[in-house]
Amino acid sequence: MTKPKRDRFLVFGSPSIEEDEINEVVHSLKSGWIGTGPKVHRFEEMFRQYKGIKHAMALNSCTAALHLSLNVIGIRPGDEVIVPTMTFAASANAVIHAGGIPVLVDCNKDTMNIDPVKIEEKITAKTRAIIVVHFAGRPCDMDEIMEIAGKRSLIVIEDCAHTIEAEYKGKQTGLFGAIGCFSFYVTKNIITGEGGMAITDNDQYADKIKVLALHGMSKDAWKRFSDEGYKHYQVVYPGFKYNMMDIQAAMGIHQLPRIDTYWKRRQEIWNTYNMAFQDLPVFLPAPVPGDVKHSYHLYTLLLDIDRLSISRDGFLEEMTKRNIGVGVHYIALHLHPYYRETYGYREGDFPNAEWISHRTVSLPLSPKLTDQDVQDVIDAVRLITIH
Ligand SMILES: *Cc1c(COP(=O)(O)O)cnc(C)c1O
Repeated sequence: MTKPKRDRFLVFGSPSIEEDEINEVVHSLKSGWIGTGPKVHRFEEMFRQYKGIKHAMALNSCTAALHLSLNVIGIRPGDEVIVPTMTFAASANAVIHAGGIPVLVDCNKDTMNIDPVKIEEKITAKTRAIIVVHFAGRPCDMDEIMEIAGKRSLIVIEDCAHTIEAEYKGKQTGLFGAIGCFSFYVTKNIITGEGGMAITDNDQYADKIKVLALHGMSKDAWKRFSDEGYKHYQVVYPGFKYNMMDIQAAMGIHQLPRIDTYWKRRQEIWNTYNMAFQDLPVFLPAPVPGDVKHSYHLYTLLLDIDRLSISRDGFLEEMTKRNIGVGVHYIALHLHPYYRETYGYREGDFPNAEWISHRTVSLPLSPKLTDQDVQDVIDAVRLITIH
């Protein structure tokens, strides 16, 4: 077998960007209205209808959405918020910025999602909220989590950065908790470059998120320079600068209608990978149960390092050498210096998340991949693992 060798680097998580959004961005630039304006409001309305919820607030990131969510539910210094250790840093950092303490919890080894039984073990008198992350696009066990939260009067915030389109027992992710937070970062399922959204049915939360996202200025301050004439505003909170721009929404309004097309392509690639890697010394992503819709955000292959002659990091290097971009989602938070040093976490605290941290590799899973790209990934993985 000849060494599969691409001449062009396959960028991990490279988004599909089409003519419509390119033209729309140019239109915004030419119109001169590039900041928060009519396109942001169109995107919010489209997203609100897509989710079937009362309020959708466009922001400049999911991190901003998480931070504002924790703020509006009233997290106070010393309050504890449950966060999975198997997640991106933003899920926990948002808690810290809101003044709270992230209390990490291990995941299930197969689903990689936060383990509800282990949530219960970590609840104390100071626990106020639970952040769930629908890992890689697979919805968490929301029946169990909502029951635990209900019993203890804890507020659930959903970090839906991996799942715009996932469903749990017929209900979309982001509709279970008090607030759902979404990301349109370049690698996510639909993109606006940087961008995020917070959704809620709660009028008070929605109003406060809108105000806090734009310097704490009273409602509709974004219109202060519009053709309706200058409007005075009042600062009612020391707010943040978290608003989305029209240039970003210009992409979102064309990406959102393609969400199902993109989802189908990622599902196809996912199934192709599953078939191609069956016989390798690896663990494939856990099968998707019949009562959920997976959003296929990350294809996480777990290397069976005990049966391989190559290490995980060696594998990453070999893939890069073959011009294929790879990722690691994630090294569990409690293994990072900040959380160890600040909260005293140690290796050994969360065995399942550690087991995954040492073995996981994310392969390219973008709707932009051609069949040849997918084949190149497969050839490279097979060659490196069979070697
Ligand atoms: C990407 C990501 C975020 C942050 O999203 P941004 O829009 O980049 O702020 C938060 N949580 C998880 C799980 C993510 O993957």
